[in-house]
Amino acid sequence: MAAQHEYYETLGVPKDAKEDEIRKNYRKLARKYHPDLNPGDKSAEERFKKVQEAYDVLSDKKKREVYDQYGFYSDNIPPGGGSPGGGASQQRPPNMDFGGFDFTDFVNQQRRAPGAGTAGTGAAGGFGGGGFRDLFGQFFSRDRNEEETSGPEKGSDLEYGLNIEFWESIRGTQVKLSINRQEVCDVCNGAGTSGGATTVCPECDGTGNVTQMAGAMKFTLTCPRCDGKGRLRNVCPKCHGDGLLLHPETVEVRIPPGAQSGSRLRVAGKGNAGRNDGPSGDLYITVRVQPHPFFRREGDDIEIQLPITVSEAGLGAKIEVPTIDGRALLKVPQGTQNGQKFRLREKGVMNSRKNRRGDEIVEVVIQAPKVQDERTRELLRELAQVSAEDPRQELWSKV
Ligand SMILES: [Zn+2]
Ligand SMILES: [Zn+2]
Repeated sequence: MAAQHEYYETLGVPKDAKEDEIRKNYRKLARKYHPDLNPGDKSAEERFKKVQEAYDVLSDKKKREVYDQYGFYSDNIPPGGGSPGGGASQQRPPNMDFGGFDFTDFVNQQRRAPGAGTAGTGAAGGFGGGGFRDLFGQFFSRDRNEEETSGPEKGSDLEYGLNIEFWESIRGTQVKLSINRQEVCDVCNGAGTSGGATTVCPECDGTGNVTQMAGAMKFTLTCPRCDGKGRLRNVCPKCHGDGLLLHPETVEVRIPPGAQSGSRLRVAGKGNAGRNDGPSGDLYITVRVQPHPFFRREGDDIEIQLPITVSEAGLGAKIEVPTIDGRALLKVPQGTQNGQKFRLREKGVMNSRKNRRGDEIVEVVIQAPKVQDERTRELLRELAQVSAEDPRQELWSKV
């Protein structure tokens, strides 16, 4: 591999040389050292090859960008690290040299991310598939990530569904809910290790380093399994190193009166335990209310369909109506039509936030009389004769 930035010297141009300057010098030198013009001259042939190599890279904008940034060019490195002075290059550490470069944190991140594949394929794939920038992106973002993971971490929230009866939702209820939540392991106190003697890391055989190939380049990485320590601490036998354990627990939940289907209740601190003395998450309970045979909930109102007879509709009547409090009296006026709605004030559901009750909405459904005897038939015939009304009059007038 050529020494760093030798190409510019080879072509006799400054590092900020323009394209045409590079081309001009190349032509001059290529003519000078061309084997045809220097038969039998080995050193001229060597110089000619070097000039060709240098020009091959410096004449290609993308190759030159890679070369400027890394000090050498390889087809395995796609450009994109940013041009010198650009934003990305400021992240580049001084004197970067792949031989001793430490990819530990990149590897660790690959290991932490579920489904990201093994560390080996992650690193090698990064080079082959154009992920070079990503690889450095991950490397340089590690400080921030590490801070995030080493401090107290809040536990995750839990979500449970709860089915309750209609009447429980109206009056409120107390429910015992069985949940599974993570608690800090009582054996290791959340550390995940049991202390005591350590064992040799099988991944690196105790050396703390593993070797990886990426194309033609060979990397020495800090062993991802032991973080370069060469030895593994004994994993806690109870939580298997997780530090948290799943425990069944019964939580008593108070459902307030008037809870609606789909409402979500929060029980603070009953989610999963946090890490590093972080607080526990919360428990969220989504309430599902089973439907009632005839009471229908609409916000704080209760809706009901009430069957009435033709006589009640025509003559008017006082009718007993079921409400969530028991029976109530509804005055149906004379000449009530099918589908007409009546409101019983404050016979709906208690809204504890507004501290007021909703209404009950009664929709009347007129039922035709069952004609089973001659007397009824007679009366209906008589009715037809006295009331000459045509209920379809309006309909026909619009045809
Ligand atoms: Zn444990
Ligand atoms: Zn190891």
